[in-house]
Amino acid sequence: MPRPLVATIDISALQHNLRIAKSHALDAKIWAVVKANAYGHGLERGMRGFAEADGLALIEPENAVRLRELGWQKPILLLEGIFDAADLETMVRARLEFAVHCIEQIVWLERSGLSGPFDVHLKMNSGMNRLGFKPEAYRAAYQRLRANPAVGKITLMTHFANADDPLNPGLPLQQQAQQFEQGIAGLSEERSVANSAADLMHPELKSDWVRPGIMLYGATPGGASAEQFGLKPAMTLTSKIIGIQRIGAGEAIGYGSRFVAAAPMVVGVVACGYADGYPRRAPNGTPVLV
Ligand SMILES: *Cc1c(COP(=O)(O)O)cnc(C)c1O
Repeated sequence: MPRPLVATIDISALQHNLRIAKSHALDAKIWAVVKANAYGHGLERGMRGFAEADGLALIEPENAVRLRELGWQKPILLLEGIFDAADLETMVRARLEFAVHCIEQIVWLERSGLSGPFDVHLKMNSGMNRLGFKPEAYRAAYQRLRANPAVGKITLMTHFANADDPLNPGLPLQQQAQQFEQGIAGLSEERSVANSAADLMHPELKSDWVRPGIMLYGATPGGASAEQFGLKPAMTLTSKIIGIQRIGAGEAIGYGSRFVAAAPMVVGVVACGYADGYPRRAPNGTPVLV
């Protein structure tokens, strides 16, 4: 018998959550984000669950190639772009779109000698300060790409820090949206701005493409509970009680003796630990369904 710890992935929940994302996205097309092995749910299952998406987005070039091998025909986008000039050949061969977020990536495109066409997503750092060109450098980056005959479609892209908390004083959502608008003023290309939180809560942010990730797996991006958004959990972790201990008042259980019995009790021991990915920081009292 295999060990009884099992993660069950519900493909119909993935499909359901994609429909919720679509219903909020209005007319925008959907990149279903399947990075990090579909947030741990399995790349192939993600591909099946999101068959109705307009494209799949991820960050690992090798997994993008794998999606082609598995038969995905629609667009694929690499959200962090390429990691080396040598990746460009793969972009052509596997027909991958990719983000361009720094000057090195522009130079690689210019020096590649490949004819493309490369469909790129030019990323702006509109205040989150992770990846992208600052608004004042965005236009020059755009023009450099446009001047490159190997570059095909350019999509205007940014990422919001606080779509789930729009008034966050660290970076209010409106401020970021304004930075983006100013940086792209006069450009008529398609826009790609929204993660899960923006998709669910901010239809007013104009976007031709949205990029939901975590919500597709049934977790809330914040702002309200997953249930309130109508999302269904895609993963269920089940196991079995494989041992029973009877302990007296004052006796402790486990590493660090973190739980101390107030009264005599019967303890069921479940086959699951942090080596399995169960969060080591989960506190005493973390609920399980028996
Ligand atoms: C991961 C990611 C997303 C999806 O974000 P969620 O918060 O999981 O919805 C969207 N866009 C980019 C660029 C990402 O890296």
